[in-house]
Amino acid sequence: MLELLPAPPADPLWDLAAEFAADPRPERLDLVLGVYRDATGATPVMAAVREAEIRLAERSASKEYRGPSGNTAFNRAMLSLVLGADGPAADRATAVQTVAGTGALRLLADLIRRTRPATTVWISDPAYVNHRPILEAAGLTVRTYTWPDMTADLRAARRDDVVLLQGCCHNPTGVDPSADEWEALAELAVRNGWVPFVDLAYHGLGDGLEPDLWATRMLAERVPEMLIAVSCSKNFGLYSDRTGCAVVIGSSRTALRHVETALQNAARTLYSMPPEHGAAVVTTVLEDAGLRAAWRTELDGMRARITANRADLVAHLGALGRGTQAESLARQKGMFSTLPLTPDDMRRLRRRFGIYGTASGRINIAGVPAHRIPYLAQGIAATLSTLDPARAARPTG
Ligand code: PLP
Repeated sequence: MLELLPAPPADPLWDLAAEFAADPRPERLDLVLGVYRDATGATPVMAAVREAEIRLAERSASKEYRGPSGNTAFNRAMLSLVLGADGPAADRATAVQTVAGTGALRLLADLIRRTRPATTVWISDPAYVNHRPILEAAGLTVRTYTWPDMTADLRAARRDDVVLLQGCCHNPTGVDPSADEWEALAELAVRNGWVPFVDLAYHGLGDGLEPDLWATRMLAERVPEMLIAVSCSKNFGLYSDRTGCAVVIGSSRTALRHVETALQNAARTLYSMPPEHGAAVVTTVLEDAGLRAAWRTELDGMRARITANRADLVAHLGALGRGTQAESLARQKGMFSTLPLTPDDMRRLRRRFGIYGTASGRINIAGVPAHRIPYLAQGIAATLSTLDPARAARPTG
């Protein structure tokens, strides 16, 4: 049987991660995957998370099976976090715990497929690498809209089509719509009747938790139906605990009557039920005022470090005569930046400097130890294939 298995396509991100692991150069920099690293280059367990884990271990709660909706206290806490404690949309929303953001995307894709198999889902171009594969694995048709100038393309999105948007810190570009552009999107969704599907993976790491959730909450209040995939991987640092949830907002409570069972049925055939640990940790943090405040403070600190890293990179590129190219970086948000580099440039950056980003030019700006920013800037400046026109005319000192 196995000899019939065709060679599967390689996963470009994990291939790069493996190449990095085999690179012996001490100066190498791994900026491929979206993982926060602190000033020392470590990915820390957040203090509130550690404290919650200690409390949970001491309580030694049972590991008995949970249902396919997972931890219901977690689901309530996540609804309140994402939509706001008194958010008007929370009354017509339901949430189911999932295997992180990826599991939420897949479960919601399954829900779309079960509801309307012929639905077209629109994703951005460029998009998070896993969006298209997840949607297609669920059997959905995918079309793309240009990012960030999406309005023209989205005029073709029809009633009951689904438009996948990233709530903040767009992966891979780091470019988000302005508040006016979000409002215009909400208007378009209401007028043309398409359903927004918001992927929330980086809230708290762009402009702050509340500002990063603003667009999602605004959309939730304006449109009758909406889907939200929420990840706790980055903002709780729970990457390997696979924690997240799928949120569905309906036009009324009654409209939601079959939703949870449909999501549970989808979960049963995929993984039966989600892992408890991360959900218990998040619930413990969010339900305890002290832990919640400590988590918010640490999250703000992570965001500040990412912002400082980006500003520092822009400043160093400017000092190296690459100010014009660095301008676009200065406007980006969140863990990722897209460099103005071609796939060939990215290969040269890897070969010559041991700096690993994706072929599309994406680097994880949150993964650079602060003292390595000058090295990163030098590598980028030396690799840029087009000269900065402003500096090209003048001799550089
Ligand atoms: N959505 C986006 C835009 C992402 O960048 C990621 C991870 O990088 C995810 C979803 C999924 O994250 P996870 O499954 O680890 O929660």
